[in-house]
Amino acid sequence: METKNWIGGESVLIQDQGQIVYSPSNLSEEVGVIHYSERSHVFQAEEAAKQAFRTWSKLTGVTRASYLYQMANVLEKNQTELATLACREMGKPITEMMGEVTRAIHLLRYYAAEGVRSDGELIPASDVNVLQYSKRVPLGVVGVITPWNFPVAIPIWKIAPALICGNTVIWKPADNAALTASKMMEFFSEVNLPEGVLNLVIGKGSVIGVVLLEEVDFQAVSFTGSTSTGTHVASICAKRNIKYQTEMGGKNAAVVLNDANLEITIPIILSGAYRSAGQKCTATSRIIVEEGIYPRFVERLREAVSGLKAVHALEPTAYLGPVASKSQFETVSHYVNLAHKEAEIIAEGTIKSDNDGYFIHPLLVTGVQTDHSLVQEEIFGPVSVLLQAANFDEAIQLSNETIYGLSASVFTNDLSKAHRFLEEAQAGMVRVNQETAGVEYQAPFGGMKHSSSHTREQGQAALSFYTTVKTCAIKHTF
Ligand code: NAD
Repeated sequence: METKNWIGGESVLIQDQGQIVYSPSNLSEEVGVIHYSERSHVFQAEEAAKQAFRTWSKLTGVTRASYLYQMANVLEKNQTELATLACREMGKPITEMMGEVTRAIHLLRYYAAEGVRSDGELIPASDVNVLQYSKRVPLGVVGVITPWNFPVAIPIWKIAPALICGNTVIWKPADNAALTASKMMEFFSEVNLPEGVLNLVIGKGSVIGVVLLEEVDFQAVSFTGSTSTGTHVASICAKRNIKYQTEMGGKNAAVVLNDANLEITIPIILSGAYRSAGQKCTATSRIIVEEGIYPRFVERLREAVSGLKAVHALEPTAYLGPVASKSQFETVSHYVNLAHKEAEIIAEGTIKSDNDGYFIHPLLVTGVQTDHSLVQEEIFGPVSVLLQAANFDEAIQLSNETIYGLSASVFTNDLSKAHRFLEEAQAGMVRVNQETAGVEYQAPFGGMKHSSSHTREQGQAALSFYTTVKTCAIKHTF
């Protein structure tokens, strides 16, 4: 397949040479061709989205909802095809990719239902003849800039609330999730959304992303990606007075206390750290273990990590596949080399021998100071670092010793310690006896510190981002 832009309801094939995409699971397997937009496509999309806003914003919530329900149905009908393409394009194991599309379907239905819910409040006025109320109103044209690691769910958790609130959208996906984005738009074309309501512009962040951010008359930008790009996006939006949200990186800790049940804890930590080859913003990358349980824990986790095998992402039993791209492979390999030089390797998983892709041996390491880059920097690969804590106080302190604040977990049966961790962990999402990853779509999602610009996505929180509040007052004159 070849990527197409979608502008004003029409697919647009870009007339460049294109770039062939090979599957990260098998570098001789061709998946498709990406075509990169020119500046002019951005402005065509802007014009289409602006025109569409005039009518889309005036439709009732019921009507807008009917489109979102249809979008959900279309994804459901094409779930396997979309999940398979994404799995081949960016290497997420097929079972997880199917789950991700399910999440997108649920998100579309969840936000469709918002079309008939209250969008304001009645507020008492000091004059009995005045009816005073507040009302959420749409913003206008919204820019949606997404990463590759959740190629279906992240775009939908931005697009669905943006649309139900009455905005129109220009979406720029990461270029190594562009085939999936283009296919999803092809499926959505069946729904016959009014022209220009949802536009797709494919291109590199450093080219098309810059034009979008610096030149398009956006009323809001919702970005997910790395902290370095996100802070840059935030600074431009702030300068242009564009409402923005930037959801960024993480260095999430799982804290294991002396009373943790290892039967339950080990598989959960393994999954949080190594599924999707550690390429989730909420993946566990630091494992902090209280002294008393440390030897038993290490033994059990060593065995579990040694048993992991990275395989082609399409294998139905794949637990983890490759990392997503050459640049991901190079970045993660840098940390792996560093670990081999400067850390103590506790366990190393394997790679299926006939694979020729961007595979990394799952790795569990220890023996570095807490200021070491393996402990402080987001690796975004199947590498996790084990730290020992003398007691619960030190475990909390280590958990918070990072510039990031996305997600954190504690494993304990002690209710008061669980409560204290929930209170003191500096993270936007804090969980007890659960993975750092896996927050549900109906709950607010986002981070503290350098993981976010402090708004929240998903759940009801998204509705605040994609609207502004108008306060209205009517005086009876009879
Ligand atoms: P990235 O920052 O490289 O790119 C994200 C998006 O920004 C892409 O679409 C890219 O093309 C675009 N972009 C890049 N430079 C740009 C620029 N100058 N102007 C405008 N747009 C630009 O991130 P990535 O590698 O695609 O994704 C991985 C990162 O995303 C990790 O750091 C991960 O933690 C983070 N992430 C965060 C969350 C969250 O909700 N907090 C969720 C998923 C991923």
